[in-house]
Amino acid sequence: MFLFNERLMFRALLLVVAGLLLIFMPELVPDDYSILSMTSYFLGVALLIGISFFAKFPPVKRSKKIRNDIEIPPADATVVVSRDYHKDFLEKEELLQFMFDVSTDGLWRFDLASGKVHWSEQSATICGIGKDLGDSFDVLKSSMFESDRKDFLKLLSESLEKNRQFFQEIRIYDREGNTRIILLCGKPQYNEEGRAIRMVGTLADVTAKKQVERNLFYSSFHDALTGAKNRQFFLDRIDEDLLRTGSRPDYLFGVILIDLDHFTAINDSFSHLVGDKLLRTIADRVLQSCRQNDIVARVGGDEFGIILRDIQGHGSEGEVQAIVRRLQSEIRRPFLIDDNEILVTAAMAVIFNKDFKDVESLLASADAMLRQAKRVGNGGIQFFASGMREKAMELYKLEMEIRKAIQSQEFMLVYQPITDINKNNEVPGFEALVRWNNTERGIVAPADFIPMAEETGLIVPMGEQILRMACYQVKEWVDLGYKNVTVAVNFSARQFSLDNMVGEVQKILLETHLHPRNLKLEITEYTAMAEVEKTIDVMNALADMGLQISIDDFGTGYSSLVYLKRYPIHTLKIDRSFIKDIPENAEDVAIIKMVIAMAKSLNLELIAEGVETLDQVEFLRKEGCHLIQGYYFSKPLAGDKALEYLKNHTSVAVQNISVLDPVT
Ligand code: C2E
Ligand code: MG
Ligand code: MG
Repeated sequence: MFLFNERLMFRALLLVVAGLLLIFMPELVPDDYSILSMTSYFLGVALLIGISFFAKFPPVKRSKKIRNDIEIPPADATVVVSRDYHKDFLEKEELLQFMFDVSTDGLWRFDLASGKVHWSEQSATICGIGKDLGDSFDVLKSSMFESDRKDFLKLLSESLEKNRQFFQEIRIYDREGNTRIILLCGKPQYNEEGRAIRMVGTLADVTAKKQVERNLFYSSFHDALTGAKNRQFFLDRIDEDLLRTGSRPDYLFGVILIDLDHFTAINDSFSHLVGDKLLRTIADRVLQSCRQNDIVARVGGDEFGIILRDIQGHGSEGEVQAIVRRLQSEIRRPFLIDDNEILVTAAMAVIFNKDFKDVESLLASADAMLRQAKRVGNGGIQFFASGMREKAMELYKLEMEIRKAIQSQEFMLVYQPITDINKNNEVPGFEALVRWNNTERGIVAPADFIPMAEETGLIVPMGEQILRMACYQVKEWVDLGYKNVTVAVNFSARQFSLDNMVGEVQKILLETHLHPRNLKLEITEYTAMAEVEKTIDVMNALADMGLQISIDDFGTGYSSLVYLKRYPIHTLKIDRSFIKDIPENAEDVAIIKMVIAMAKSLNLELIAEGVETLDQVEFLRKEGCHLIQGYYFSKPLAGDKALEYLKNHTSVAVQNISVLDPVT
């Protein structure tokens, strides 16, 4: 950096002048060259040179600028600064003491020569140990956790030895026996000879901050209700363990999924509070049944997941089976929650990592198995057997495809006529039956996708689409004059138990401008008997709206007559299984006769399903069942064909109305 120095320039100028005087001496010295004139000439030159080299010039006053905006005025040169080192020292001591007193953090100073520690007043309060910290580290050390004490001494001596600052979070027991976390910092100070003379430091209570950090850390891995690990942690761990098989191909671990049976019913019959307590207790029992390094997580509302880590060398699958048995008996053991004895069963799926490369396929298989176990019911367990993987993957694929099909509205309805054999085979209505029209699979029957849709809950959005389609269709026929025609729409248990089910139906009726008398809802006998009180409420609300309710597959669900009487139902549909073998099968004949008598006494409409032969029709006619649904009259028909069928099976009077006086 170039430094412009005025004093140096002045000295150089004097030297140049002296040089010029010497060069031009002949012209400048008087002609006589007398000793006097020569001496005075040379003395003058020497003086100039001397000044240029040795004279002390006062410093040039120049003001300093900081950041180009703050001007610091030059020091007053007339004031002679004489330093009073003693005063300086006292001022620094005072400053230090002042800082000791005002700081909200604790401050400490450790003088090495005396070995004494000076603590600021706040230090003792911060530590909360209820007594003065004295003049050493002893009091503090005695309240520290043992392992922290060892670290503290080590860090302190390392810091002095290597001249570096140290930080340590120490845990101490305060006066109440609670743990406080104190952040301790220290830095050594050295004298001119480089010898450590003291260490100065701070201390602060960081317990609350640490607690917040710990809570955040904890909640990111744990389920808030049960304290078990959460779903994300569970998935990450499986992922990690699967990666491990890359370097250790023989690494074996197991995954167990547990799904509690009828948990919603437990929640409804007791209370959510009891439900929560039950989940907590179950989580505890599951934890107790596993080994120490296994991972227990709550992976869904009433679903738990376990990773049985490293089961190699533990008798592998035998060990796993023992754990599963333990789990099952623990879950089956009655729970006593708030004086309620609750019995719980659960379905379980057990799977090993051997066949899987990624979490998705492993869990998809486990889920599929769990559903299979659920179907078995009453605490079914499914172990993953070879060959099941393909099946599981197929089911997983199906689920994904159903999801897509809902979005792209691939579902369509066909309509099966219901024939009144007492009225000249007229058709009072139809049953709407869903079909899946898929480009790859073709037309898929409901049996191949409804169970999956029910298990996954996809039946809810699918059912909404179905109801809307059916309502629009029947409204079209009503508008053509068939003002009393009805369409029965099947409702699954899952749809029927939705809280806002009645509201949803009402919404669609309003949207499609359909009169409720044209709509029937069909629920199976099994669904109707599941949650009796709730079902009665929902059915009453639907009946109040003017809708008709039909009990499907009647005879298969062991209905109680007492309940049937309380239900506001309109129609019973005798299941096809009873029709199939009549009139030959005496048992079926007896059942049908009984059902017909019952329907009459309860004043219910009766429809026989799956009627395929004239013999069956004649038998039913003779016994007094005149509404027939079955291939004998017609298979389910597409919308336009159904309308044609309706036209051909409606009395002329009604058809005339449709031409002359269309009903809106
Ligand atoms: P479901 O409600 O009992 O419907 C009657 C089933 O019997 C229909 O089968 C129908 O095609 C069939 N069927 C009718 N007459 C005869 C006959 O004479 N012989 C024979 N062999 N079969 C006959 P589909 O359409 O395959 O439906 C099967 C089941 O799928 C239905 O039984 C119903 O439980 C369910 N399902 C159909 N559509 C829907 C829907 O839109 N929503 C819901 N949740 N379930 C539906
Ligand atoms: Mg039905
Ligand atoms: Mg049926």
